[in-house]
Amino acid sequence: MSKRVLIVGAGLAGSLLAVYLARAGWTVEVRERRGDPRAAGHIGGRSINLAISARGLKALRRVGLEEAILRDAIRMPGRMIHARDQSLNFQPYSRNPAHAIQSVSRSTLNLTLIRAAAAEAGVTIRFDQRCTDLDATSGSATFHDDRTGETSTAQADLIVGTDGAYSVLRGAMQKQEGFDYQQSWLSHGFKELHIPAVTSGATAPFAMHPHALHIWPRGGSMMIALPNPDGSFTCTIFWPHKTTASAAGFDSIATTESARAHFTKHYQDALALMPTFDHDFVNNPVGWMMTVRSRPWSMGGRVALLGDAAHAIVPFFGQGANASFEDCEALTDALAASHNDIPAALADYERARKRNTDAIADMALENFIEMRDKTASRLFRWRKKAEHFIHGMAPSIFTPRYDMVSFDTIPYADALAKSRRQDRVITISIKFLLVVAVAVIYAIVALLWRGAL
Ligand SMILES: Cc1cc2nc3c(=O)[nH]c(=O)nc-3n(C[C@H](O)[C@H](O)[C@H](O)COP(=O)(O)OP(=O)(O)OC[C@H]3O[C@@H](n4cnc5c(N)ncnc54)[C@H](O)[C@@H]3O)c2cc1C
Repeated sequence: MSKRVLIVGAGLAGSLLAVYLARAGWTVEVRERRGDPRAAGHIGGRSINLAISARGLKALRRVGLEEAILRDAIRMPGRMIHARDQSLNFQPYSRNPAHAIQSVSRSTLNLTLIRAAAAEAGVTIRFDQRCTDLDATSGSATFHDDRTGETSTAQADLIVGTDGAYSVLRGAMQKQEGFDYQQSWLSHGFKELHIPAVTSGATAPFAMHPHALHIWPRGGSMMIALPNPDGSFTCTIFWPHKTTASAAGFDSIATTESARAHFTKHYQDALALMPTFDHDFVNNPVGWMMTVRSRPWSMGGRVALLGDAAHAIVPFFGQGANASFEDCEALTDALAASHNDIPAALADYERARKRNTDAIADMALENFIEMRDKTASRLFRWRKKAEHFIHGMAPSIFTPRYDMVSFDTIPYADALAKSRRQDRVITISIKFLLVVAVAVIYAIVALLWRGAL
């Protein structure tokens, strides 16, 4: 008889995991807090688009879903930097022009995954089921039906918590001895704004160049915009919650008047494209971002965490969903390799993934500094060009971090270690070249001086 798995949360990771495990022969029950999105044809919620790259696409390809997702995706082969003086500068992500991250609708991606899961024999999905508690020892979870008010309990050979950054399952595991948990809030929050499609202009229906991730780096804060297939852009401002010496925060810019004045000064080109700015600024909520690190990811040999529930990260490398999809592959592979010896598989899964999700958590935080502070600098641009040049000359020795994270699937921890080694070599080389240059100038001046004497 096939083993039974209960997946809590039909978000991006939970629904993909359901497809994987069903195809591996498991009987799968998925329970999701929200209502069934299939009738409405979309899923509500924030962050309406996201960037998917090599890791996510590989995971989707494994179950034949890559093509369907790419059909509605928009290629973003680089960043378009919007300077304060409204000039534009395109910075390719990679030396290889074929390399691009893909802007996809979160709602469409999730809905496609839910439909794929529901189409698998052996998968049952129950909506409006909010998990309220977990007993890791007996392997049972309690649910509240938000429509009927009824409470029920579900048991399985394996329970996987894919219930997101604010995971109830993780919360229950935290109460057990030996569970380490670390949560750090980012001092910055985010708010989404909207640039609609246009009917005229060189890039119509897009109001700006569609094939780029647009960034307005403002030092200490920034705005980004990702294109949507209907010609609109979803913009996200990342400002400090509390005003700092280098950037005004959400605390001091709360009214339409102050927001308009701030945008007129810092994001004028974008403001001109936002007819619903006043409404969006006041009505769209300020989101919080955090990094979550937990250990162990499993308990009692039959309960495990996966995706944001295990390791929420800040969104600045566009890797949270990509990393969660990699988790699905790792857990499925570990279960297959152990011939469904669940405790052994859970230990292998965590061993394979933990160091990598720790690494992408660090790189995501570092990338925030790069996006908001460095992308505007000429020095940074030269350095990126130099990195791409060196990569072209010696691809087996040098690969820029962005390429390793977004266009390759080498483990995140290896990408982090290699990029730190490369950074040290580049910094030493630049220092060496500067010393040589100074020595040469000194020698020339000395020779001229002697000649003049
Ligand atoms: C602003 C922003 C931008 C981002 N951009 C990117 C990007 O460009 N690229 C990228 O790869 N990642 C991005 N991410 C990260 C990405 O959204 C997450 O990493 C990804 O959604 C994690 O998937 P998940 O399935 O673990 O969690 P989720 O997608 O959050 O799914 C969790 C599911 O569990 C359900 N649930 C929650 N609680 C319960 C409960 N008690 N009982 C039952 N069900 C429950 C929820 O309703 C939901 O369906 C971004 C995140 C943010 C906030």
